[in-house]
Amino acid sequence: MSEKKLADKVEKLLGVRGMNDILPPDSARWEWLEGQVRALMARFAYRNIRTPIVEPTPLFIRSLGEVTDIVEKEMYSFEDRLNGEALTLRPESTAGVVRATVEHNLLYDGGKRLYYMGPMFRHERPQRGRYRQFHQIGAEALGFAGPEIDAEMILLADALWQVLDLRDVQLELNSLGQPDERRQHRHALMDYFSRHAADLDEDSKRRLHLNPLRILDTKNPAMRELVEGAPKLMDYLGQASLAHFQRVCAILDAAGVRYQINHRLVRGLDYYNLTVFEFVTNRLGAQGTICGGGRYDYLIEQIGGKPAPAVGWALGVERVLELLKEQSPASSVPALDVYAIVPDTTFFPAAMRCLQVLRATGIRAQMHAGSADGPGSMKSQFKKADASGARFALVFGADEMARGEVTLKSLRDGLGDQACYPLSEVSTWAARLQSQT
Ligand code: ATP
Ligand code: MG
Repeated sequence: MSEKKLADKVEKLLGVRGMNDILPPDSARWEWLEGQVRALMARFAYRNIRTPIVEPTPLFIRSLGEVTDIVEKEMYSFEDRLNGEALTLRPESTAGVVRATVEHNLLYDGGKRLYYMGPMFRHERPQRGRYRQFHQIGAEALGFAGPEIDAEMILLADALWQVLDLRDVQLELNSLGQPDERRQHRHALMDYFSRHAADLDEDSKRRLHLNPLRILDTKNPAMRELVEGAPKLMDYLGQASLAHFQRVCAILDAAGVRYQINHRLVRGLDYYNLTVFEFVTNRLGAQGTICGGGRYDYLIEQIGGKPAPAVGWALGVERVLELLKEQSPASSVPALDVYAIVPDTTFFPAAMRCLQVLRATGIRAQMHAGSADGPGSMKSQFKKADASGARFALVFGADEMARGEVTLKSLRDGLGDQACYPLSEVSTWAARLQSQT
């Protein structure tokens, strides 16, 4: 049987639907984004936290709320094979961060500003901007009650859009008030939606008596008009809640951050109170929310910690990257300074040793990779060198090797022609070369 026929017979194993491989050249953008985030978080003095990808299932049920999209239909849950423990792949990270904060008593000496990045898992219908494994970058400030931290969080996200040069992003704001204010609003909502029960979709009918606030978060365009006319939370806020909201707005105004108040904005999870916000764009189709967050003053207590306020946000990395890609589609080629051309296998050890010295001085260097039979002709190696985008070819030719030398050849105009260098003094000329690259 020919190799091809044999290969056709072996069934191909493919990845899980909705879970993506992130390949070069795209992965370069990921690394760049992560680098920008780390640098920015350092400037705001937020520190990195890394929690497990798997958490006990009850953690998510208790924190996100039973009547939410995630808990009702999107969680990857399973039983531990040995002890039967109910486990879930994290659908978001705030619950895990709060669990870790409580478990390790992180707030014993005051509030903490934290950030994370990593994969999340939700069993959703895969489509543009919606995947089953996706990535979030998130920031959480735990142990701070004042409106200045809500604003700081928003300014942090806004600063990120600026360093990324992300355009066409709008900020939407709302206040969910406090639980007692929400209860009154809930009654009004039930009244209103009961009067319009005929216009509710299936999900909303079920949620009417369980969690009517969730109806406002519907993704069903047919219900849009109905939802627009629903009682507004803002009208049920007391003095303190209103003042908190106004103080957040005042800071944003002074910082020149523009926002729109969106009365329908309630977020998809139950743990929020007071300030909630989303950054949205109209350039990604239906999946236009790139970042969402808000205050969650009761979650720490709910998870068993000493009561402490908190606020946070999470952004969807895939959506942010897609927006960036739309703005500038060109993908970057990995930068390379030196491409080593080695026509004879007996020169491999000397060439590798030389490249190691170059790399140690910070020069980006790569050696030509041939076939099992040998490295291939000079001509074919030079072709590869040109295509690699390297600035120089470093030639380990037989003539110069006999003299203990190598030739450095410019691959681009205007960089000077070529010169020979002694292999025994590689660290000296490597340093000189490094200062030119
Ligand atoms: P959506 O309304 O789009 O379902 P959400 O309210 O469920 O979003 P959050 O839980 O607030 O999303 O998560 C924060 C961000 O993570 C979202 O704004 C989005 O950018 C991203 N995100 C959420 N779910 C997915 C997913 N399945 N695939 C890709 N990105 C996602
Ligand atoms: Mg969702």
